[in-house]
Amino acid sequence: MKTIKDFDLNGKKVLIRADLNVPIKDNVITDDYRIKQSLETIKYAINNNAKVIVLSHLGKVKEESDKTKNTLRPVSIRLGELLNKPVLFSPNTKGKELEDMINNMENGDVLLIENTRFEDLNGKLESGNDLELGKYWASLGDIFINDAFGTSHRSHASNAGISKHLDWGIGFLMEKELVTLNKVTTNPERPFTVILGGAKVSDKIGLIENLVTKADYILVGGGMAFTFLKALEFKVGGSLVDNESLDFCKKILEEYPNKIILPIDVIKSLSKEQLGKECFINEIGDEEIGFDIGRKTVELFSQYLKTSKTIIWNGPMGMFEKPQFSYGTKYLCENLKQIDAIKVAGGGDTAAAIRDFGYEESFTHISTGGGATLVLLEGKELVGLK
Ligand code: AMP
Repeated sequence: MKTIKDFDLNGKKVLIRADLNVPIKDNVITDDYRIKQSLETIKYAINNNAKVIVLSHLGKVKEESDKTKNTLRPVSIRLGELLNKPVLFSPNTKGKELEDMINNMENGDVLLIENTRFEDLNGKLESGNDLELGKYWASLGDIFINDAFGTSHRSHASNAGISKHLDWGIGFLMEKELVTLNKVTTNPERPFTVILGGAKVSDKIGLIENLVTKADYILVGGGMAFTFLKALEFKVGGSLVDNESLDFCKKILEEYPNKIILPIDVIKSLSKEQLGKECFINEIGDEEIGFDIGRKTVELFSQYLKTSKTIIWNGPMGMFEKPQFSYGTKYLCENLKQIDAIKVAGGGDTAAAIRDFGYEESFTHISTGGGATLVLLEGKELVGLK
């Protein structure tokens, strides 16, 4: 694959597909991590005298009323602040006004086009990778740079579509994500330990099947641990159980009894609104729910992590959004900070938790992808790049 460095950008109209899909509440960006991670490629294009035209989606646009909350306008302002230069914003995703704006650009200017998914209102043209739309967007530039790792598991008009019609390469973020995630999964320094958490086992079956053969240990926390525990016939009360994945968990536990490490204690409660109480996993009452892993489990997991040379983490250890159930995820972050290994975290919630708790600097890499990271960890192809 070519990278942005393989092109002469001087005076060229460079279309950059970034992933600026950031959380926005009441017009305020609550987490600008993805914008910051996109800066290196955009700055490189500016410094190389390109006319920089940025495309991105934001959220889902299913009806006209979704446009107001999913406009990229606040993102254009934040991008301008971070670049320390004004960013032009086109409220149109196609048409003469957009084309005029592009024709009036000087070298080094940056223009952000409105949410590509506004085109989904006319029959899912963006998400359905409509041929004409991809061709039209390609006609706006000379070179296409795909830097949207977080969207690369989807084949959209603004990534796969444009690349059919223009000479293209990848940006710095895409390169960093692909190189890091491929390296840790194909040629990891050992011991290689995977930490899995989050809600459902069913979302991560592909990942477990792929990584169980490669990893030395898989430490399972979060809601998904209860399906494994139930498969071992523990009573888990009202904890999150993914019944359709029980047989899968049984099979994996039988095949890899020494590789799958499960919690030995949890924080239980009668509801997520109440305070929790620590107990061993065989002490969960019928009405009780496990919302977090306990201290002994964090210590147990840390024993495996201490000697590991490569660590991948996907999925929080508990319902970390609630302070009373955030301890397991936070304490694991603290323990990981002390460990000298290649540490890669992926998945939207995991990344958000790590940054909320202030442990960003302790990781080698925090992926900007949720679904795309899962697809790579499953060992599958990214269709948006293919
Ligand atoms: P995922 O998207 O599968 O990574 O799941 C992340 C979500 O799992 C977060 O919103 C957590 O609150 C939730 N979660 C983690 N542990 C638990 C648990 N023990 N019970 C219920 N939800 C949980």
